[in-house]
Amino acid sequence: MIYSDFHGLKLSRLGFGCMRFTTDPSTGEVDQDKVNAMFDLAIKNGVNYFDTAYPYLGGKSEGAMAEALSKYPRDSYYLADKFPGHSLPGPVDNLALFNVSLKRCRTDYFDFYLLHNITEWSVKIYESEEYHIIPDVIKLKEEGKIRHLGFSFHGGPQLLEEFLNRHEGIFEFVQIQCNYLDWTLQDARKKYDIITSHGLGVWVMEPCRGGKLAVLSEENSGKLKTLDPNASDASYAFRYLQDLDNIKVILSGMNEVTQVEDNLDTFKEHRPLSDQERDTLYEIAESLKKGVPCTGCRYCCEGCPMELNIPYLLECYNDYKYASALTPSMRLDALEEDKKPSACIGCGQCSHACPQHIDVPAALAELAELYRSGPKWSEMVKGRHEAIIKDLKDR
Ligand code: SF4
Ligand code: SF4
Repeated sequence: MIYSDFHGLKLSRLGFGCMRFTTDPSTGEVDQDKVNAMFDLAIKNGVNYFDTAYPYLGGKSEGAMAEALSKYPRDSYYLADKFPGHSLPGPVDNLALFNVSLKRCRTDYFDFYLLHNITEWSVKIYESEEYHIIPDVIKLKEEGKIRHLGFSFHGGPQLLEEFLNRHEGIFEFVQIQCNYLDWTLQDARKKYDIITSHGLGVWVMEPCRGGKLAVLSEENSGKLKTLDPNASDASYAFRYLQDLDNIKVILSGMNEVTQVEDNLDTFKEHRPLSDQERDTLYEIAESLKKGVPCTGCRYCCEGCPMELNIPYLLECYNDYKYASALTPSMRLDALEEDKKPSACIGCGQCSHACPQHIDVPAALAELAELYRSGPKWSEMVKGRHEAIIKDLKDR
């Protein structure tokens, strides 16, 4: 196993993400035997970092993880959990909610604790005086119940920079979605640089983009097989990340023993990518993109009569075009009605100014429709509200 140093701690660079355990579709119960087998294999081969979150698997991830770890001494592994500020029904007793997680995880402290899923929408909750989240987690850290404080982030680079500037000295690490596709598609490169420039550690989630980079099309997989017929598609995604020095932990949401075995093999040693391997990955990334090649230069913004944040909207568009997901819907929810894509009047001023010749009005019209008809974060979160209220009552 390869390890990284973080404030004197020796963290396995392969972290076990606990949001994809196999569950029984009719009962929602986790296949505990399988989790136990995967954890035993991972621990035997040096994995010491386990990451869960309050809402994962409808609240069942924390308990399944705790059960699988129960036979190991508490100081032999690092435990990471997350505060669900983005799912709160309103201001709640944050400390009580934190205690629900502690209880489910059968521990009295978390080595790593993150504010979960900061975006342009949820940041308003996290920074609200009424919700009082940041002061409360700082207090928990002072009490020793949190050893290291960070946050997971799904917003754009501008918000990341602003948030870190506003809270300088509070957080020690940031978890971002990063892989060889999102390096450019979701501006992970800029986010990596921002986090690094603030002297913080980078944690990675979605190294294989929800599994999509682990099972490529026959054509793309064939390109990798010509480089090494025995290497899995996923191994390239991990090796790409291993080459980035400031990435301390790469979380993989493993749900099969064979995946654990393959990942352990990839993390046995650091094998830097050759130029040819890296070029092939970028070629594959380009073939996967279906959106527009916006560089974020903002030449289009000045003349927009509706004062739309065009590059921001196009980031959401590109995300939707790759895979319809809740994140872009959450980012669009954050905008006032007159700044949403539907506010575009189609004047075309932006396209004339764009050095990439992007047909912005067409992309925004499509985005407006994708947003209108796609899955809505604002609706999905209602179920979580009920669960949190119940958990706080039952505790
Ligand atoms: S087409 Fe839409 S986005 Fe472009 S300048 Fe006009 S109103 Fe703004
Ligand atoms: S001018 Fe074109 S490339 Fe630049 S931000 Fe606007 S849409 Fe993107």
